Amino acid sequence: TSYQSVGLIIGVTGIVGNSLAEILPLPDTPAGPWKVYGVARRPRPAWNTDHPINYIQCDVANTEDTLAKLSLLTDITHIFYVAWTGSEDCEVNETMFHNVLKAVIPNSPNLRHICIQTGIKHYTGPLDPDSGVLPHDSPFTEDLPRLNAPNFYHNLEDILLEEAAKKKGLTWSVHRPALVFGFSPYSMMNIIGALAVYAVICKHENKPLIYHGAPDNSKDSWNVYADAADADLIAEHQIWAAVDPNAKNQVFNCSNGDIFKWKQMWKILAEHFEVELVGYEDGQKRKSLQEMMKDKGPVWDEIVRKHKLLPTKLEDVAQCWFADIVCQSQNLVNGVNKSKEHGFLGFRDSKKSFVYWIEKMRASKIIP
Ligand code: NDP
Repeated sequence: TSYQSVGLIIGVTGIVGNSLAEILPLPDTPAGPWKVYGVARRPRPAWNTDHPINYIQCDVANTEDTLAKLSLLTDITHIFYVAWTGSEDCEVNETMFHNVLKAVIPNSPNLRHICIQTGIKHYTGPLDPDSGVLPHDSPFTEDLPRLNAPNFYHNLEDILLEEAAKKKGLTWSVHRPALVFGFSPYSMMNIIGALAVYAVICKHENKPLIYHGAPDNSKDSWNVYADAADADLIAEHQIWAAVDPNAKNQVFNCSNGDIFKWKQMWKILAEHFEVELVGYEDGQKRKSLQEMMKDKGPVWDEIVRKHKLLPTKLEDVAQCWFADIVCQSQNLVNGVNKSKEHGFLGFRDSKKSFVYWIEKMRASKIIP
């Protein structure tokens, strides 16, 4: 095959990386046919092997490892940076991205575009709900000023603009998705995984599905508007920005384009797994999901054995700490007018997206 474009996905087993790995090689993807390289630290997992990509096991936080492996690639035209170190540490996250650019830019003369994925924490501040940082008023727009708090997203943006300015013809885009609905048992923040696994455990133990809410009722997420971004849609958004001249050198929010309430999603969740739902009640004082699930590791192991699922550990497939944070959010909606104005009209129905990814987990034998 003679390829028109060559993509390098950093974080290829992540929640968006896995979608990029699936979509980029498809015959009808814009600017194709695409040759694709994908990078992550762990060996390639079984659920990623169907994608026709070249898998490179490399730790991009390690400068020698990155230079040794990625400077051998000389044909990259586009970089899709969809990784993070799993903590908000600015220095480590900055080093990772810098290492990739140091290895690729001097060796791939045809490099044309770099996409980076950040997110709505750009507008809300750090994950820690007690950080004291006041979020911007939502709906969020791309032109809002940076919050006055350390954020590795700022570091990534600064490096991106600095490096792109040095090389003629190299363009960039920054993608800021809302909460991601997608598939990856290796993701460090996967809300679908956490909720689906919790529901599976409730079903297994013949117990009701209890909406845990937030320890502080005033921060409850049950009845406020929320939004999400489908991982395939984010991949399409990044591919659009990578190849469409109207999208060059811009920051774009990304979300499904609709809104929902978590009480609607929990109803769908309960119906899908045929468990009784105990929703939000006035004055409720409930344990966090993290607390409810803290001794469920052996239960999960038993479910995996019983249903002959792909072997996984509870803490890998269900990040309960993240689900707890998601259920404290309120009125955090991401505006997507700018993407539309620049020509990206993609959207998803969030409820269908929610079910789609649960079904994907089932088809991939992560849940029964
Ligand atoms: P994930 O946690 O889903 O995936 C991370 C990927 O990066 C994995 O493939 C992981 O594989 C790889 N990786 C991590 N460290 C390294 C390393 N040192 N070297 C090579 N590969 C590495 O990522 P997300 O898509 O969630 O996160 C990307 C960005 O999107 C982050 O900035 C995040 O804050 C943001 N975001 C995420 C949202 C969400 O709901 N998930 C919502 C909005 C924004 P391995 O561990 O094997 O190396």
